[in-house]
Amino acid sequence: MTTERERRERARREFMREEAKRTTGVLLAVGYFCLFRALFVTSVSLLLFPVAATAEGACAPTHAGESAPETTAADSAARFVDISAPIKQGAHADPPICAPNVSYTNHSAPPLPELAALFPGLRLEDLPGGDLWALERVEMCTHSGTHVDAPWHYSATMADGSKPMTITEVPLDWFHGRGVKLDFRDVPDGHVVTAAEIRAKLREIGHALSPGDVVLMNTAAGAARASADYIHRGCGFGRDATLYLTGEGVRLVGTDAWSWDAPFLHVGRRYRETKDASIVWEGHKAGRERPYAQIEKLANLDELPSFGFDVAAFPVTVEGGSGGWTRAVAILDR
Ligand SMILES: [Zn+2]
Repeated sequence: MTTERERRERARREFMREEAKRTTGVLLAVGYFCLFRALFVTSVSLLLFPVAATAEGACAPTHAGESAPETTAADSAARFVDISAPIKQGAHADPPICAPNVSYTNHSAPPLPELAALFPGLRLEDLPGGDLWALERVEMCTHSGTHVDAPWHYSATMADGSKPMTITEVPLDWFHGRGVKLDFRDVPDGHVVTAAEIRAKLREIGHALSPGDVVLMNTAAGAARASADYIHRGCGFGRDATLYLTGEGVRLVGTDAWSWDAPFLHVGRRYRETKDASIVWEGHKAGRERPYAQIEKLANLDELPSFGFDVAAFPVTVEGGSGGWTRAVAILDR
């Protein structure tokens, strides 16, 4: 039976063959155009400037080892979906203690005194457009907005006594992989998803997990991002579900809810009833046994298919930190 990996590899090879044919055609067309343009320019130059006639203005020669120009968005074979949300003042995505505070400096603000001292007498109106530059100062937690948690976030020691990785220590290859999206929007807020429920969703979409897959959870919180109760919305993923995923070789998971675990509001209520400490942050804490990283507060997951895309979510690193903001992106074939 053909596996999904083999099917994707065949599709990739087919695409590369088509791309090679297309590129050859484009190169021939460019070659003819350059030749024609060189002849035309040379002829005109000879007519107008008989002595200084050169092929100046013709296509620049390419040299061996010169890299090809980067593809532009227009001719890229990929489609990028932004699955992160911008850092924004007054968003409901974080409680007040972690809410971003963004102060904007606009182009007409007077330069810093240290800088002004370097250019004595320089006035803003002396500069093009009469303005200086814009910049922003941001105050927030490493867990504000769309971000990745490192194992150091959920414990000071791993179950085996070793030190968990900080965000600067997590290998970069964890942050890029084949994406899988599971739809848990039909699950009530506060529900703790089990391994059996994840397996059922995987069966529904016909996908078998492979090591390195990046599993993204679309929860009911995704559509509630602009609501004041966002942090209480959506389901979470418990110890059982997390250990199942990491047991399959998954190292990066993601959710559009505030946390990988069920919202504290719901877990707190259950704790007050049961006094069972094992339910507190159980999904995160499962990483003490097999380390993993979780992307939280993702956006636009409803725009993604169940699979057939890559995810890149490299975090900004604060030295020794427990997490880092990320511009997470899903990369789909056109
Ligand atoms: Zn976090």
